[in-house]
Parts: sequence; structure tokens; C-alpha cells
Amino acid sequence: MLDKSYPPAAEMVKSAHIDAAKYDKMYAASVADPEAFWGEEGKRLDWIKAYTQVKDTDFTLGKVKINWFADGTLNVAANCIDRHLADRASQTAIIWEPDDPKETAQHITYQQLHDNTCRMANVLRDLGVKRGDRVILYLPMIPEAAYAMLACARIGAIHSIVFAGFSPDALAARINGCDAKVLITADEAPRGGKKTPLKTNADKALLHTKDTVKCLVIKRTGGQTTWTEGRDFDYTALAQGAATTCEPAEMNAEDPLFILYTSGSTGQPKGVVHTSGGYLVYAAMTHQITFDYHDGDVFWCSADVGWVTGHSYIVYGPLANGATTVMFEGVPTYPDASRFWQVCEKHKVTQFYTAPTAIRALMGQGKEFVEKCDLSSLRLLGTVGEPINPEAWNWYNDVVGGGRCPIVDTWWQTETGGHLLTPLPGAHATKPGAAMKPFFGVMPVVLEPTTGAEIHESPTEGVLAIKDSWPGQMRSVWGDHDRFEKTYFSDYKGYYFSGDGCRRDADGDYWITGRVDDVINVSGHRMGTAEVESALVAHECVAEAAVVGYPHEIKGQGIYCYVTLMNGVEPTDELKKALRGWVREEIGPIASPDLIQWAPGLPKTRSGKIMRRILRKIAENDYGALGDISTLADPDVVENLIDNRMNRR
Ligand code: ATP
Ligand code: MG
Repeated sequence: MLDKSYPPAAEMVKSAHIDAAKYDKMYAASVADPEAFWGEEGKRLDWIKAYTQVKDTDFTLGKVKINWFADGTLNVAANCIDRHLADRASQTAIIWEPDDPKETAQHITYQQLHDNTCRMANVLRDLGVKRGDRVILYLPMIPEAAYAMLACARIGAIHSIVFAGFSPDALAARINGCDAKVLITADEAPRGGKKTPLKTNADKALLHTKDTVKCLVIKRTGGQTTWTEGRDFDYTALAQGAATTCEPAEMNAEDPLFILYTSGSTGQPKGVVHTSGGYLVYAAMTHQITFDYHDGDVFWCSADVGWVTGHSYIVYGPLANGATTVMFEGVPTYPDASRFWQVCEKHKVTQFYTAPTAIRALMGQGKEFVEKCDLSSLRLLGTVGEPINPEAWNWYNDVVGGGRCPIVDTWWQTETGGHLLTPLPGAHATKPGAAMKPFFGVMPVVLEPTTGAEIHESPTEGVLAIKDSWPGQMRSVWGDHDRFEKTYFSDYKGYYFSGDGCRRDADGDYWITGRVDDVINVSGHRMGTAEVESALVAHECVAEAAVVGYPHEIKGQGIYCYVTLMNGVEPTDELKKALRGWVREEIGPIASPDLIQWAPGLPKTRSGKIMRRILRKIAENDYGALGDISTLADPDVVENLIDNRMNRR
């Protein structure tokens, strides 16, 4: 199963920006002389003052420093908008698809994007926002979210987006965490046919922040309730009187562009700081090359702008490239499980980028939902967020891609700004479940987990670290540089430590095996959770699975599996037995599950990732303290799992 490999299609090789020979040559150059390589790539952007320094970085604990293009100046919004106006003023920049398919989609041209961003920038300036000030965005997936991001960039303010699914408490913590001056929100956020009362949540959050925080309210549904005079400002009214021009601020390459919290899969979310020049160079380059974007394509990343994927691949990367980017307000299953594919058909999407959690959910609904749509416009598929189980990969490849679209399985993190490991569609073979190759300039290493020694031979397995900096790397944890150094640079000296485990196969290709904290040690055999989960998901009755270790008297650790069955499958003891036998067959007796619990749902972060640290606590019977659950999507799921666990003891 793991050895299957799909070579790039001949047409892709011919038309792609990068073929195999070019990759090899460029990659070698990029790691041999990063200064020269990135010095050239930096020219993708328009600089106000050209840089003369390219790379000034150090991974040494105690004096970690990451600077790129440090003496250059630029404006990120001008790079994403203004510089395209000469050629593309009337080209669509953003296609907005509303939650309700009956509502009209919008096509926003680069000229309109310019005018609306300037209006928003002027409104923010009038509210007193100055360069370096923080602005919180708590918004639905509406074009105004992109305007607000770019408006901040235009005036040099730092944005921090809080996903619209977060509670008032989480919102308040994030407003206070960066001492924000303004909160931009909307009346309500439609999603999956329901409406989240954003403004009401904002009102609650603002009870726990400084009185000086101003609230700018965008009208989305008209479902407005209370209004606090002097604190709340109506965006529609202010925008009407605002000018459609606004001089972009001259920013240093290392001035912060945004703060964004990680998903909180492994613990308390970290407030990641990204800066302007290096981040944009990296987002633009990865968007163009990984997805093989060409003029005329319609690119759709289905993430929310509340996550880094939305920052880099809905807004900054595509717009820096003058692309047409789709912004979708809804969810994959509303009005039904065909929605993603209907949107692809409607807007003739050429590249589609989503997460394994969505693929697994849609796979469970059956392929009829895909097959009734015309997906002939699709040329490439992408995935990000978690290891993708080969079963889901194959379904994505065969059913969605019709066997003709390469899948880029992109491994990266909030911290990395853009893709670090991914196959390139015209250069590399793909393998179901493998993140394959380093992007240009990225130097991955596999370290021996206990000694930290670099392992040079392949095949091998260990922890994944990066040896040297790349321009999209985070610069710090907001307000806590010490946490930044400790989290990423203290476990393995001289490296950026990803927190993920990986395997490098005999071809030298990389596979992510899961979080290092999640590695299980059964009778001295180390095992990643991804492999056991993938074996379970490969069974026809299983929709989703999460695997953790628990203390076991004889083996050290036992294997505890939480299994969600396909719609309509009966949970029986025979099925448990069959699943044990199945995993033993697929991987070997060592991976045989000790305990299987039926899980109607799995605890996930709001970005859709399985939170194994919570499942580990339940398996260990230690659910008194579940740790930071501020980003848990649905607490009821956890209650259910605990209840069923307790009944069994
Ligand atoms: P926290 O850091 O707060 O625990 P998080 O790591 O889930 O949360 P993100 O930055 O959203 O926050 O996610 C990055 C992680 O997602 C990676 O470290 C990796 O574990 C996982 N990931 C992302 N893409 C892939 C992929 N293509 N294959 C395997 N794992 C992936
Ligand atoms: Mg992380």
C-alpha cells in the first residue's frame, strides 16, 4: 500500500513551472547559496527601497535571530493590489461564494479590491489606528475580511484574526493578548445554514477588555441587536464617506504583518508573529509553484481566513501573484455533501486545496455527491493540516480528481508561513500519504529522537527538524520571545524543531508520522499514530480513527483506538475483532489494537484536527485535567467519550 507511486503526468511535466531537472538544479542552488537564491526570488515583489542584505539568521539557543531582506522597505497591500492595476484592473481578484447557494456570488476585480481596501484603510485611520497598532478581525468569510487584512497591511497595522467559531472568552483573551485598539466584526456569520451571532459575542468579549477598544461592525445579515454609542461604529456608513485612495505606508521588511494563533492541537495556542517581506516572498512563491498557478486559473483554498492556510493561500500568496482566488463562506456539507463540487463546477476551479478532515467526511457520504458534478476544470488537488490516510488520498485521487489531477500533500505549520515539504506537480511522483520533497531553500533533517543526532541514511525514522531558516519562518511568539526559543530551538540545539515525527523512505521521500508527543512505544517498538489510523480507515466500515497509547503493564504502552464507523454500520464485538485482525494484517502483530472504543465523534480543534492529547487523557483515565481546551470545537464529543470509557471500567 505504501509503496504505490504515481509519476507526474506528461502534460503536467510539459506545462509546469518546474520539472524534475529544474527542481534538482534549483534546489541544489537554493541550499548551496541561500543568499544568492533568495536575493533573486525577493525580486518577485515590488520594493520601495531595494534590499542589500538578504539573510541574517541564527538558530543558536539564547540568540535566535531571523531576519530576511532586513534593509528593504515595501508595502504588502501595494504588492497584492496596486502593482497589478496597470494590467489587471478589470480581472477578478476574488470570487466570493456565499454560504447559501441561492444568494448571488460576487466577482471582485482588482480595481474594486483596491477601492474597497482603501476605504477600509481610511476608516481604520479615522478610528485612530496607526502603524504598529493591533487590529483584531472576528469575521465571517466575506470579502471584507480580505479588505480588512489588506487595509491593515496598507497602513502598517498588525492584524490578528480570530476564527468566527471562537467563543467570547477566547476572543477577549486574544484582544487582550495583543492589546488591540480596534475589533472588526460583523453582525452575524452565516455558516452551514446557521448564524453565529458575532456582534453579540463581541459585546460579551468587550466586557472583559479595556474600555478604549473600538468595535467596527460590518453588516452581513442585518441581524443587528444592541449598539454601544461611542464604542461601536457602523462600517457601511463610514465607508460611504471614505476615499477610495490611501497612500500605502512604507514598511520595513521585518515589520510585523500579522499575529496568528496556532490550532492548539498539542497545547496552549502560540501567538505566531509573521513579518512583511520574507513572508510575502515565500507565500507568493509557494502558491505559484506548488499549485502550478498560471494566469487564467481559478484557485480555491477552502480553508478559513482564521487559519494560516487562509492567510497564505486565500489572500496573500494568490493576490501577490495577481491570481483569481475563491473565498467560500460555507461548509462542505451544506446544503448537502455536494457543495464543494458544485462550487468547483460553478466557478470552473482549476486548483482545489482542502484538508483531510473534509475529505474523510465527504468520503463517508459516498461518491454520488461528487459524480453528479462536472469537475473537468480541475487540474490539481491539494491537502494540508494532518497526515492524509492513503484511503482518503486514493478517494480524492480517483473520485474527485478522476485519476488525472496530481495531489500535492503539503506539510507546513502556522509557524512556517508556507509549504516546507510537498511534491511539485510537474517534477515529482506522488505517493498516497507522503509529503515527499523539501520546497526550495528548505533543509529538512531527520534526528534521532533521544540523542538529536542527524540521521543521514535512508530509509529511516525520527523527528523532523529544519536545519536553516527560510523567508516565511515565524519571527517570534507575540510578547514572549522566550517561549519562541524554548518551543522551537531548545530540544535539538541548532535546529528548528517541528514537533512532528517523520519517516524518510528508500527514495529519500518524506512521510509525516504524526506528532512527536503522540508516538507510541509498544514493547520497545516506536510507532507513529498515523500508520495505525490509516490502517483502520482503510477498512470499509471505518470512517475515521484516532489512536493513542496508554500505560500497559506488560508492553509499556498499549494501543487504544477510537473508531468512528461509516453511516449505518452496526458497532458490534465481532467488528472489533475483525478490526484487530485487519490492523494485524495491514501492519503486523505489534500494531494490534488493545482497546477499541466506538466514537460517534472525535474531539477536534476548530481547524478540524484531531486532538489526541485529550484522547490520551481519556485512555489513561486521567480526564480531570484535559489541559487547554480553548480551541476544542465540540465539548460534547469529549463528554460522550468519557462517559463510555467510564462505563467500561
Ligand atoms: P499547536 O501547534 O497549537 O499544537 P497545530 O500544530 O495543529 O496546533 P497548525 O500550525 O495549524 O497548528 O498545524 C501544523 C501541524 O499540522 C503540523 O505540525 C503537522 O502536525 C500538521 N500537518 C499540517 N500539514 C500536514 C501534512 N500535509 N501532513 C501531515 N501533517 C500535517
Ligand atoms: Mg503546532
